[in-house]
Amino acid sequence: MGNLVAIVGRPNVGKSTLFNRLTKTRQAIVNEQAGTTRDRQYGKSEWLGKEFSVVDTGGWVVNSEDIFEEEIRKQVVLAIDEADVVLFVVDVTNGVTDLDMQVASILRRAKTPVIVVANKTDNNDLQYNAAEFYSLGLGDPYCISALSGSGTGDLLDLIVSKFKKESDEILDEDIPRFAVVGRPNAGKSSIVNAFIGEERNIVTEIAGTTRDSIYTRYDKFGFDFYLVDTAGIRKKNKVSEDLEYYSVVRSIRSIENSDVCILMLDATRGIEGQDLNIFSLIQRNQKGLVVVVNKWDLVEEKTAKVMKNYEEAIRNRFAPFTDFPIIFASALTKQRIFKVLEAAKEVYQARTTRIPTARLNEELLPMIEAYPPPSNKGKYIKIKYITQLPNTQVPSFVFFANLPQYVKEPYKRFLENQIRERWKLSGTPINIFIRQK
Ligand code: GDP
Ligand code: GDP
Repeated sequence: MGNLVAIVGRPNVGKSTLFNRLTKTRQAIVNEQAGTTRDRQYGKSEWLGKEFSVVDTGGWVVNSEDIFEEEIRKQVVLAIDEADVVLFVVDVTNGVTDLDMQVASILRRAKTPVIVVANKTDNNDLQYNAAEFYSLGLGDPYCISALSGSGTGDLLDLIVSKFKKESDEILDEDIPRFAVVGRPNAGKSSIVNAFIGEERNIVTEIAGTTRDSIYTRYDKFGFDFYLVDTAGIRKKNKVSEDLEYYSVVRSIRSIENSDVCILMLDATRGIEGQDLNIFSLIQRNQKGLVVVVNKWDLVEEKTAKVMKNYEEAIRNRFAPFTDFPIIFASALTKQRIFKVLEAAKEVYQARTTRIPTARLNEELLPMIEAYPPPSNKGKYIKIKYITQLPNTQVPSFVFFANLPQYVKEPYKRFLENQIRERWKLSGTPINIFIRQK
């Protein structure tokens, strides 16, 4: 499964410049979801056919010179805990600073591979300055210029060479993988405990591919699925939980390794930045989604109207993606927790739906004829044929048209909604492509 690379270092050494450089290539290829808030901190990259994610943990904190050392320490600990490779960025034009030394002393104790990146090596003379960074005790400093890009190709070679080989994992490909995610105290551990309890006979713990990813097989009451990273959820690391972005970074691995994410919200609190950021990670990874409004037992007035208001508020915050199930539940009283699993199962089915080409054309072509795309520059746009692409992560549909370039976003959304209405695809992202016939 996916590898995660974390960038750490003190402010102004060039972390975000390097982040942009590492994630740029990929962003150009992939059609990024619009409106994501945290593009600067989390991105996808690919090198030598290996896909990985990059996270700039520094990007989450205010970038000022007098940043608290304690804050940096937490960032670094989080990076070590979560990442497969840590890039420790330093600045050749500044030499080794006290803060660099402090970061290095934490990194030296880590088992995670660390690469010292001597940034701002804009010319050969500056390379000699880099020798100073041997004193960090983390091996050879690696000279690059994130600004010009020089040295970054070799750096990428080095990064991917540090990725662990995938171990022989015994996961059944046809069984859905669910991840429970959400901010601290939303009730993740409680719901996982409610699902699996202490009954050992219904779960099997399987050591996963990468260091900390653990899958738990759950096979009872008509359900059969893996829960991703349950051990990580149940065994809490309190070190950095007070950090706003902690839960976001902590969720990356689980989200990437799942098919459907169960996003836990706390009914007694509003939707906050962390919830939106986790939602955005789910979206960018094109995973299925079930939203759980947890702690429903604490809400006094549980009328239909209150529920409807909650639902509307949630869908408004998560727009434009609004077609997903919302379950009001209580991990404490176990109210509707099986509904949550049922919903996750349905989303998985939606995600793996295959609609026969004949049905797509029979159902949609007459509708398109009645509501065609608006003509552009006096030219009529005709959609002639529709098919679903095979073997895609989420349902993806190609509409063949005479003038594909004139079919605009609003009409694509209209087509998406038509598909969603006809075939129950709640909870899964879908892709719409318009191609030349
Ligand atoms: P961060 O605070 O660590 O994320 O640092 P930034 O990426 O924001 O960069 C801080 C400053 O250093 C910016 O003005 C960048 O343009 C500059 N910078 C980053 N990389 C390089 C580089 O390779 N060479 C030079 N000369 N400047 C750089
Ligand atoms: P996590 O940090 O997301 O794993 O959250 P926990 O499962 O540890 O729950 C945080 C706190 O909320 C604990 O004190 C739980 O007992 C409490 N809690 C979790 N779910 C519920 C619920 O449905 N109702 C109520 N009343 N409390 C809950």
